Amino acid sequence: MLLPDPIARLIDELSKMPTVGPKTAQRLAFHVLRMPEAEVQALARAIVEANERIRSCSICFNLTDSDPCAICANPTRDSSLICAVEDPRDVIALERMREFRGRYHVLEGAISPLDGIGPDDLRIRELLARLESGEVKEVIVATNPRVEGDATAIYLSRLIRPLGVKVTRIAHGLPVGGDIEYADEVTLAKALEGRREL
Ligand SMILES: [Zn+2]
Repeated sequence: MLLPDPIARLIDELSKMPTVGPKTAQRLAFHVLRMPEAEVQALARAIVEANERIRSCSICFNLTDSDPCAICANPTRDSSLICAVEDPRDVIALERMREFRGRYHVLEGAISPLDGIGPDDLRIRELLARLESGEVKEVIVATNPRVEGDATAIYLSRLIRPLGVKVTRIAHGLPVGGDIEYADEVTLAKALEGRREL
């Protein structure tokens, strides 16, 4: 009521972002109002362009601006090894480590009955389809070390093992309940190295 409509709308849109409460939204909105026009335009363009150009890779479901993504299109990556993760941010964390030379599969979540997320809501069917060629020898399940991530790992191992493909789970060295996304490179490298067969 007290604010001109365009400002109120900007605050409203910003407050829809995760971790942004009403106060932060208001602070950001007033910051935007004081920014030089060129910077505001660049910010708006970056948001629209990311939305328009970023897609899920049709093979691994990682986020990409080209399809297939750079990792799937790279012939030097080991196609006998697939690392299954929950989120594209986990791919970034694992790539930062520079040790994993296989490929990825983004599940787009983890099994969580409490949240109504079942196996059909994840990219599990697509993962199984990738195993059909017989090229893949091992699937490393790198879901987060929580109840949902563990349940997903067990579910995947039951589906995949009968296909003659080895299923491993990254080692617990990662903080329980923690996120792969936030793990440092050394911890991640150790977790990957110490993976165990499921
Ligand atoms: Zn890909």
